[in-house]
This record gives sequence, C-alpha cells and structure tokens, in this order.
Amino acid sequence: MNKIINMITVASIFVGLVSSKADDRPNIVFLFTDDHAPHAISAYDGWLKKVRATPTIDKLAAEGMLFVNSFCTNSICGPSRGVIQTGKHSHKNGFMNNGNTFDWNQQTFPKLLQKAGYQTAIFGKSHLRGHPRGYDKWAVLPGQGLYYNPDFITPEGTITIEGYCTDLVTDMAVDFLKEDRDEDEPFMLMVQHKAPHRNWMPALRHLDLYDNIVLPEPDTLFDNWSDNASAAPNQELEIDRHMHLNFDLFVDLDKDFFDPTPDLPADRSAWRNMKRMTDEQMKIWRAAYAPRDAAFHAAKLKGKDLVRWKYQRYAKNYLRSLRGVDDSLERLQATLTQLGLDDNTIVIYSSDQGFYIGDHGWYDKRWMYEESLKMPFIVKWLGAVKPASRTNLMIQNIDYAPTFLDIAGADIPDDMQGVSLLPLLKGERPSDWRKSIYYHYYEYPSVHMIPRHNGVRTNRYKLMHFYEFDEWEFYDLKEDPDELHNLYNDPDYTSQIKRHERELNRLVAYYEDDSDTSAKPMEWRIEVRQKRGWENMKR
Ligand code: CA
Repeated sequence: MNKIINMITVASIFVGLVSSKADDRPNIVFLFTDDHAPHAISAYDGWLKKVRATPTIDKLAAEGMLFVNSFCTNSICGPSRGVIQTGKHSHKNGFMNNGNTFDWNQQTFPKLLQKAGYQTAIFGKSHLRGHPRGYDKWAVLPGQGLYYNPDFITPEGTITIEGYCTDLVTDMAVDFLKEDRDEDEPFMLMVQHKAPHRNWMPALRHLDLYDNIVLPEPDTLFDNWSDNASAAPNQELEIDRHMHLNFDLFVDLDKDFFDPTPDLPADRSAWRNMKRMTDEQMKIWRAAYAPRDAAFHAAKLKGKDLVRWKYQRYAKNYLRSLRGVDDSLERLQATLTQLGLDDNTIVIYSSDQGFYIGDHGWYDKRWMYEESLKMPFIVKWLGAVKPASRTNLMIQNIDYAPTFLDIAGADIPDDMQGVSLLPLLKGERPSDWRKSIYYHYYEYPSVHMIPRHNGVRTNRYKLMHFYEFDEWEFYDLKEDPDELHNLYNDPDYTSQIKRHERELNRLVAYYEDDSDTSAKPMEWRIEVRQKRGWENMKR
C-alpha cells in the first residue's frame, strides 16, 4: 500500500514538474482564410505577384518558412477543415462534402491540446456545423456567414454584430489575447475568416483599391479544355457562362437591384447581405460601384471583352477582400508584440484550399488541378524557423494536427494519417519524407458540377481519375505547369502512367480509402449531365 502511495506521490511531483515547464511551450496563432489561392500571394511567385495584394503575408514569409508544395486532400471548404481538425482524410473523418455534418464526438487536435494543457479558442468560420468542441472560447459564423453585420453563434446564443466580418473576427481574437487568456497556460488561437470567399465583398475602406489599374490576366483565361477529359468542358464555374453579373459581381442590372434571378438560390447571394447593410454602409458601397456599373452599361461589352471585364471586377473584389485579411494579420501581430508574446508565439497563415482567379477561365475550386490543389502555408517562429526559408517537400492538411500536437509536446495518436512538420520547420530534409500525395473529391452531382475524382501527384507528374465516368488525365508538371496537355494516351509516357497507377493504388490502400470508385452506367452519366448544378444545390 505504502509503495502505491509513494508511486502516486512521485507521479504527482512529476506531473507538477511537467506542467510548470509547460508554461514555456510556444503559443500558436493559426490565421486561416477561405479560398485564398497561393498564386495571389506575391511570396508564392504566381502570375499575380506584381500586384502585391498582401504585403503583411509577404512579410510573414520573409520572417518564416514558406511551404512551396502545400496541398489539400479534398479541395472544398468544410472537408478541408474536417481534415485539419482530425489529421485524417475525408473518408476517415466522415466529412466528405459541404452538405455533411461533422461528428464533433470524434478525436480532434484541439481536444488533445486541451488535455496537454493548452488553452484553445476559435473565432470566425467553422463550416463544420454544430457547436465546436475542444475549445475553451469560441464564436463561429453560421454556415458560410455574412461579410456585413454578421450573426455569430456563441456558447450563450446567436448574436448579431454591426461591422465588417474580417474586422469583427479580428476584434474577437485581439480581445482573447488581451483579456480572456489564462496567462499561466500556452494557447492555440484559430482565427478563421470568411474572406475571400464568394461573393467577394470587400471592406468599405478597400472599395477603391486597384480602381485605376488593370490587373494582369492569367495565360489560360480563354482555355477551351481541348485536351481534358469530359469533366472540364461540362463544369459550371466559368467566368464567361456561369459567373452572374448581379449575383456574383453586384452589378446593378437596372431592374430591381435586390431581386435575385429566380433560378438562383437567394440565400447565399450578396443581396441578402446587402439588405442587412446600414444606410451609411450602403451609401459608401453604391458610391464606389454605381459609377463603375454605369460605365459598364455604356460600354455594351460582348464576347471576350465581357469576360475580361467580369474577370477584372471579380479579381479586384477578391484581392480587395484579401486586403482585409492582410490587415487582420497586421493587427494580430501588433497585438502579440504589444503583449510581449511574439518571441514565443508561432504564427501560421493558411487557407482551406486554392482557387481559380480566372485560371482556365474559371472561379471556385474543387479540382485536383494545381490552382485549387495548393494551399498557402507559411510559418513564422522566431528563434526556431530560419527567416525567409522555403521548402519544396510535399505537405498536406492532414499534417497540421500532428504538427500542432508535436509543438505542444503531446503524443500523436497512431490513427492520425498526417506527419508532423516539425523536422521541416527546423530545416531538416528527412530522407524518408513522402514522395507523393493522395487526393479525393466527392461532391457530385452538385453546384458547379465537378465530377468525383481521385488521384496522385508526385514532384513532377499528376494522375487524375474521374472514376464515375472512367476517364483519366495525366500531366507532366515540369513541361506543362498549366496542365494543358493531357498525356494519358501518349505512348511516350506509358511507363510513367503505369508507375503512377500503381502509386495511386498503393495510396488508396495505405490511407484505407474504401470509397466506391466504380464507373457509373452510361445512362446515369447522361442523366446527371442533363441536370444543372443550381438545381442540385437547391436539394
Ligand atoms: Ca474554401
């Protein structure tokens, strides 16, 4: 008996030592946005580099490490967040489509961080439905949330706050850092913005940004997908045919400004949000856009000129929305400095997937093509991460949860499918690091009509399988970075294609993806393509 008591005493002393030492563990600020394509960040060297749309994020890259080859596992909002929560692919965490509800009872990294003695908080967009679990402090947007005067779900109920969403979420994060934090514990703070998600509504102070410049266009703005499988020509996310002048770009069509086209779902539009604007907000908004709308109507644009105009309006609003995010990062970092926390706080910038900013003629995401497969991932950690460092080793969002736990000194559960990035952050290049990544997108038939596909990407090549249609694409990313030449039937690449088919099968088995990937009957393929995505979205 005495022995047991002694052991308990020793154990208690040991726990006491660990927890007093735990105070020195680094804090984590995870700034996460919605739909921010890396090629819209100058530090990522994309074609929008010259615009320098996010100077503070560029500065973060200059002070930390930029992950060049950072990828999602499933390029869509909710599923990407489910992957981050669990460190598991969508088929393992159960959140495969935006229509799903996340099972908050399952193991998540915030719950494990709490157990390890971290204080956890999340503010902004959760997009996983249900009340977040594993957080000491939280306030989240319902669903997609609104840009102006949004509602927030809080532990005390739903509240509405007047102001611009990105700024309000930043306010909550700053209040947490200044007032709500328990100073005896390290913290993990997730600041998750709605911006720059559709319908790309900027802050009032940014409405005039880029007004006097012409943005560069992507080389592939007028891609006609001549070499792709049947998925690309049958999508519904073109700037030309699917981006709506009023719904997406809030052009006054000289009818009833607020009356949505009947076949479009009104509840996700900018109008619903604009009806919430105060008179003062609306006055400033229309003062910026009304003269541009008048000039647009006078020009009577058609064909490619109309596509070019829509691209400019869209991309400018997208980049304007991002400037609000950049301001948020600046304020958060200033707050950390003011509180003396910057030496021991890791600041991470990431976004749930990439996006098409006119690339291939598109907006939105979902595809395994580069623009939407890539996620920004930049880490500043003073004294630990070498400033202005870059790594080209392949990472995925399954790696975030294990990394956070590793930083906290907590155990990484065996069933997490990602790998800690801590060695990479320390400048190491582990010889056994992954040489390929696995991707699987599921939401079909649905809005934008991108068929299900899975695939493998290695350093140089990419193999994609639109399995319901039994169609394949294969790209040589070194020779063809824009993925314009589908080599699947090119005999010169037969051995590489076979190698990648074997690797795809290996990854399916390794990640235990038992999803049904069988081809559908021809009648189903014809029927599903005859239905429009908007109809499916109304389900
Ligand atoms: Ca998203």
